[in-house]
Amino acid sequence: MKDSEIAILGAGVGGLTTAIALHQSGFRNIQIYERRNKATTIGAGIVIWANASKILSRLNLISEIEKIGGSINEMQRWTEKGEFIGSININEIDSYIGAKSFSISRKDLQEILLQKIDKLNIPIHYNHNAQQISTQKNTAFINYENGIEIKADILVGADGRMNSIARKYVNVTNQPIYQNFVNWIGIVESEHPVFPENNVLDYWGCGERFGIVPINKYKGYWAGGKSLPLNSSFKNQNPKDLLFELFGSWSPNIKEVIALTNEENIKYIEVFDHNPIPKWYRNNVCLIGDAAHAALPTSGQGACQAIEDAWHFASILEKAETTEEAFSQFQQLRFDKTTAITMAGRNFAKSVFNEDPQFCEERNKNAKKADYKSAGKNIAKLWSKDLPK
Ligand SMILES: Cc1cc2nc3c(=O)[nH]c(=O)nc-3n(C[C@H](O)[C@H](O)[C@H](O)COP(=O)(O)OP(=O)(O)OC[C@H]3O[C@@H](n4cnc5c(N)ncnc54)[C@H](O)[C@@H]3O)c2cc1C
Repeated sequence: MKDSEIAILGAGVGGLTTAIALHQSGFRNIQIYERRNKATTIGAGIVIWANASKILSRLNLISEIEKIGGSINEMQRWTEKGEFIGSININEIDSYIGAKSFSISRKDLQEILLQKIDKLNIPIHYNHNAQQISTQKNTAFINYENGIEIKADILVGADGRMNSIARKYVNVTNQPIYQNFVNWIGIVESEHPVFPENNVLDYWGCGERFGIVPINKYKGYWAGGKSLPLNSSFKNQNPKDLLFELFGSWSPNIKEVIALTNEENIKYIEVFDHNPIPKWYRNNVCLIGDAAHAALPTSGQGACQAIEDAWHFASILEKAETTEEAFSQFQQLRFDKTTAITMAGRNFAKSVFNEDPQFCEERNKNAKKADYKSAGKNIAKLWSKDLPK
């Protein structure tokens, strides 16, 4: 098995981490194929929650993350009118899981993974946009738009949520589902301190939401969200003007981060996820990350689950006799956890982007009475499932 030629489709968080994990498990014939001319950095920043940190320390990557990642202590919830709703203690989640959570820019995380890939001499073939996958006996064939065809003993489909060719091969359809809200995302780097406290701030409106995540005193990222149909006219409007209009009367923190963000770096994203699918593999092709189980950003766990996949996939493949046995074990281990996270993300999005004023009032009232200590414990319980000791 260790001599298998492994092709990884996609140089996102999932594909790169899988390559690193496979190398650590002793696999040496690994090639990564990416459609773009460089690795993707979609998204402003992410929180590497303690569950993903635990995996990254097994992959000897955590010291690099610690150097640039930010510490975060609390996840505070506020109404748009500035009333405090409640707060989840992140340090308690961390100590339950036994690792530390970090906030980091997408670009920095990608850079850390790419440097490791480079150090391990794992080739990345850019400008390889896969168009078709087929299999014959124990070989997978991948045809790229540039006319090149490659073959591999194992194909890992890490080609994301929006149009995964691997998911199409495994599942026949690869249609993501629009969840009726959009995000504007941005990153702030300022010369003066903007984020005095290390707390994630989550502001709730009615059909609208704004979140701010500090990385350090000068750097952080944010996401403004709004319930909207696909192809709304908001898409083509000047984002800063629009964001001031939508969120300008909320907390002064929000106004400040919007004002400090370079307009050309604000991205408008229509947010999709996937229904869980019963099978993640077919012949010698196996899906990981968003291609297998894309959860909404409201789950906070998309990239973290791709990182967990990478670790489990490599650990299982290392010990398995056959690819079929490995893929089946991998899916069995990962399905329930990733499905629970996908559903939690959907439920939270339904509540936080609900546009009915009566619902929102009731939601906020209940949220103020909630027991945040047990909420944190329940989150930690789910996120800590099946992690290495
Ligand atoms: C707005 C937003 C905010 C988010 N915030 C967070 C967060 O805070 N925390 C978190 O944990 N997660 C977050 N996520 C989710 C996270 O981005 C994904 O779950 C994570 O990136 C999944 O990694 P992946 O490698 O599976 O897919 P991706 O990162 O999407 O990588 C897929 C790669 O495959 C390549 N590819 C696609 N098709 C082909 C093809 N045909 N041929 C070759 N290459 C191909 C793509 O170019 C890309 O490089 C967020 C998502 C969104 C949309």
